[in-house]
Amino acid sequence: MNPMGITEKRQRLLRALPGVDAILLAMANDTDFDHIPRAVKVRSVREVLDDCRRIILDDANRADASLFGQAALLKRIGQVVRRHMALNLSRVVNATGVIVHTNLGRSLLAEAAISNMAAVAAGYTNLEYDLTAGHRGSRYSAVADIICEISGAEAALVVNNNAGAVLLCLSTLADGREVIVSRGELVEIGGSFRIPDIITRSGCILREVGTTNRTHLRDYDQAIGDGTALLLKVHKSNYSIVGFSAEVSLPDLVRLGKKRRIPVMDDLGSGTFIDLSTFGLTKEPTVQDTVAAGTDLASFSGDKLLGGPQAGIIVGKKEYIDRIKQNPLTRALRIDKLTLAALESTMHLYRDPRKAVESIPTLRMLSLPLQVIETRAQQLASMLEKINCSGLHVRIVRKSSRAGGGSLPIQDLESRCVAIRIDTLTAQFIERTLRHSRPAIIGRIEDESFLMDVRTLSENDFDLILTAITALFQRHANE
Ligand SMILES: *Cc1c(COP(=O)(O)O)cnc(C)c1O
Repeated sequence: MNPMGITEKRQRLLRALPGVDAILLAMANDTDFDHIPRAVKVRSVREVLDDCRRIILDDANRADASLFGQAALLKRIGQVVRRHMALNLSRVVNATGVIVHTNLGRSLLAEAAISNMAAVAAGYTNLEYDLTAGHRGSRYSAVADIICEISGAEAALVVNNNAGAVLLCLSTLADGREVIVSRGELVEIGGSFRIPDIITRSGCILREVGTTNRTHLRDYDQAIGDGTALLLKVHKSNYSIVGFSAEVSLPDLVRLGKKRRIPVMDDLGSGTFIDLSTFGLTKEPTVQDTVAAGTDLASFSGDKLLGGPQAGIIVGKKEYIDRIKQNPLTRALRIDKLTLAALESTMHLYRDPRKAVESIPTLRMLSLPLQVIETRAQQLASMLEKINCSGLHVRIVRKSSRAGGGSLPIQDLESRCVAIRIDTLTAQFIERTLRHSRPAIIGRIEDESFLMDVRTLSENDFDLILTAITALFQRHANE
């Protein structure tokens, strides 16, 4: 079509689009839209009309009057309305192989934690009531007791998340004074949590020491002065410095702190109570190791390797924890009863480490033996092969899973993926369609195939995947 023709066609199509009021009137006579709030209807109509205008302006060659007739518009508006009326936060199937996937909600809770949460949600609780004494009690004392029992710490406190925990510790111990950190540990975690920024926002002054690849004890020693309030060690979480590198061990830093009378804090990031080397993974210092080293304060997340709810856990010397409790920020960062219920149950499981590994999904997935993964991959692959459709190719491929959540950044966990390819469809189309199904199935594309890592799948997920892929075929066949 010549440019003149396109301009005319655009104008004709734009003029033919009905107005919002006319569409609302048509919707009033359509039972599909009964009981839909007016605001939702208006918003949906506007979205669809905007989209139509965009198609007409950007892609006039493709734009066809039939796309914009009343029936077609109402059908599209109906889809948009349904999307707006549905709850947004919903279950997804994690086929990424990343166990602690921050975008997908990090850790799944253990059964015991889920049922405790439900029980606590449904009734009144002794959240801040001491049943023995019959008067007001502390929201934190029970969970703090069990964290101390398992970690060996003198005292503990739980707040909203580890970012909050770090902020709170820094603001309590070092407000207006210097915090010494190695240049190799000035981490950005993602979601804009950066150690230098958090130090500044806590009212402290960052004093960097050492170099990116090498920091020595004398670097810390020489930096200590009258203004020094804290020596901070930060877990590198999502990167690793290899080659010509050196860092100061926590015990050495603690010895220096004792000698110079400066408290030492360890931001453990993920934090684990289980020695991961027992599963053949890289040895990470446990929370118990950190406490035993004599650290004054340590903080870690509740929903990373610990496998509990979102929380920031602080353990350490009683004198410091007591000071933190007095900080008004503690109230601003307090956890709610549901988190507390889930965290307390999760911590109880750690009393028997074997039981913890069996019943806490994050640890179970992390320690899954390769033979089990292999068997599950074969199971899923044979389920998919039974889908009666030509052009579907199912294979099992060797890949690696990841711990995620800023833990074990360079550890590859050997795993198996079920890869699907469909002759007439692109991997991008498969990925998008499965992501749009409910529950959404999140995998990845490699070598023109759609890959699903079975490490992070439960057996329930297999049926969901089968249903979604079957539906994909049926829809495709009807189109
Ligand atoms: C993940 C992480 C944090 C932030 O923890 P959240 O629980 O996500 O707030 C802080 N420090 C380190 C080193 C981390 O790895």
